[in-house]
Amino acid sequence: MTDRALPPDWLETRRARLAKTKLAPEAEAVGRITHLADGIAQVAGLPEAPLGALLRFEGGGYAFAHSLGREAIDAVFLDAATSVSVGERVTDTGDVLRVPVGEALLGRVIDPLGRPLDNGPMPETTERMPVERPAPAIIERDLVSAPLETGLLVVDSLFALGRGQRELIVGDRSTGKTSLAVDAIINQKNSDVICVYVAVGQRATAVERVVAAVREHGAPERCIFVVGSAAAPPGLQWIAPFAGMTMAEYFRDKGQDALIVIDDLTLHAATHRELALLTREPPGREAYPGDVFYLHARLLERAAKLSPELGGGSLTALPIAQTDAGNLSAYIPTNLISITDGQIVLDTHLFSANHRPAVDVGLSVSRVGGKAQKPALRTVSGRVRLDYAQFQELEMFTRFGGISNARVKAQIARGERIRALLAQPRYSGLRLADQVALLAALADGVLDGFPVSIIPDLRARLAGWLDAHAGEAVAELAQSGELSDETRAALVAALKTLAEDLAPASDTEGAS
Ligand code: ATP
Ligand code: MG
Repeated sequence: MTDRALPPDWLETRRARLAKTKLAPEAEAVGRITHLADGIAQVAGLPEAPLGALLRFEGGGYAFAHSLGREAIDAVFLDAATSVSVGERVTDTGDVLRVPVGEALLGRVIDPLGRPLDNGPMPETTERMPVERPAPAIIERDLVSAPLETGLLVVDSLFALGRGQRELIVGDRSTGKTSLAVDAIINQKNSDVICVYVAVGQRATAVERVVAAVREHGAPERCIFVVGSAAAPPGLQWIAPFAGMTMAEYFRDKGQDALIVIDDLTLHAATHRELALLTREPPGREAYPGDVFYLHARLLERAAKLSPELGGGSLTALPIAQTDAGNLSAYIPTNLISITDGQIVLDTHLFSANHRPAVDVGLSVSRVGGKAQKPALRTVSGRVRLDYAQFQELEMFTRFGGISNARVKAQIARGERIRALLAQPRYSGLRLADQVALLAALADGVLDGFPVSIIPDLRARLAGWLDAHAGEAVAELAQSGELSDETRAALVAALKTLAEDLAPASDTEGAS
C-alpha cells in the first residue's frame, strides 16, 4: 500500500537511464500546449515526463504533471496569474516539484511553495525537497512510545496520542475541529515539538484566526503555517498537504519531533475530484476518482516514529475531516478512518449543549497512543470511560422520574462531575500534574463532596494552586511520570483545599 515500490533515488536513476539513451543529451525535452482550460494545460510531446514533473512555460510560470495520458499529459498550474496560450512551448525542467525546507520557515505564514504570505521577506532556506516522498518502511520505524500531550483532559486521559501516531479529527461543520487541533498546537509551547498547520481550501479569515490564536497563546516561533486557502489556484491547494508533510519531515529526519495538522482533507478530496474531473479521469464513488484513497494513504503514511538508527525522530499527523449530519460512513471519512490509528469524533449535539470540546466518548478511539501514555495518567484514568458510559445510560433512564436508589444517585453524581471535567475552555491546556490531580480526586470521591459548579473555577486556578501547595509533588510527577502514593495524596489534598476555598462562594449562589 505504500510507495516503497519506488526506491528513494528512483527519479535520479530513471533520469540517468534516460540521459544515456538520448541521442542529444544536452537537448531539453520540449512539448506544446494542445488544450487549455480551468487552470489545466494539456501538453503533447513530453512522453518521458514522470508524474509530478515540474514543467516550465515559455512565457514564465510553472505547472506540474498531474496525470499522464497516452497522447498528452495534464499539467496543473501553480500560479493563477500565468498567462499562456495554446501552441506555446513547455519545457520539462527535469525535476519534480520541490519545496523549500528548513528552520527559516519557522514562525512564518507561507504558501505551499514556500513564498511568504505574512508580508515578510522570502524565507532564506538552502534546501529544497520533493513534495512527494516515499514513506518510511516498516523496518525504518519504531514503536510509538512517547506521548504527544494536547493539554485537553478528554484527549490525554481517554484518547491519548503518541508521537508518530495519525489521529483523525472528524465532525460536522462548526463543531470545534479546528479549535481542538489548535489547542494541541498551542500546548506544544511546553514541549519541543515543531508544529506545521496546513490549511487547505479554508476561508482566509479562518486561517487568520488560527494564526492569531497561536501567536497569542502558543509558541509561533516553532510553527509553520502552510496556507492553500480557498482563493488559491486548485494546483496549490492540491499540493498543500504534501508540501506541509515535506516541511515537517525535515524535522522528523533530523531526529526532532514534529506535529502536522491538515485542515482539512475533505476539502482536499474535493479539490482532487475537481482536478480529476477536469482531466477526464473516470469518476467513481461519490464522483471521486478511484485513487483518492491512495492519495491520502500515501500522504498520511509519511507520519511515523523513526527507529533509533535513523535518529528516532517522529512526525505525528492530525488530519481533519468534515462529515454531513454526523455521517461517519460517507466515502471520505471512512477512507480516512481506515488510514489513521484512531479518530476523535466531535458531535453537534454536545457542541450545541455547550459541552466543548464536543468529543463523543463512545465513538472516539485511539489505537496506538494508550501505550505511550504516562503511567501516572493511566493509573487514574482507568475507570473514567466506563463510569461515564454508565452515567450516560442511567441519565437517560432516570430523566423522567425521581431517583431513590442511593447507589444510582452516587453514580449520577460521579458522572456529572466527569462531564464537567471533560469540558474545557479553549487555550487552557492542563499539565500532566493538573490532569492527574483532577482524575485522582475524582477517583477518590473527593469531588463528589463539592458542587459541580465549582469545577470550572477549580480547573482555572488549579495549576497555580498546586505549584504553591504541592510544588514537590508536581515536580516529582513531571520528572518521573509515575504516581507514587505520597505524590497522589499530596495532589489530592492540595486540590481539596482549593475546592474548599471555592465551595462556600458557590454554595451561597445556590448551586448544587
Ligand atoms: P468548520 O467546519 O467551519 O471548519 P470547525 O469544526 O473547525 O468549523 P471551529 O472553527 O474550531 O469549528 O469552532 C467553531 C466555534 O466554536 C468557534 O467560534 C470556537 O471559538 C468555538 N469553540 C470551539 N471549541 C470551543 C471550546 N472548547 N470552548 C468554547 N468555544 C469553543
Ligand atoms: Mg475548521
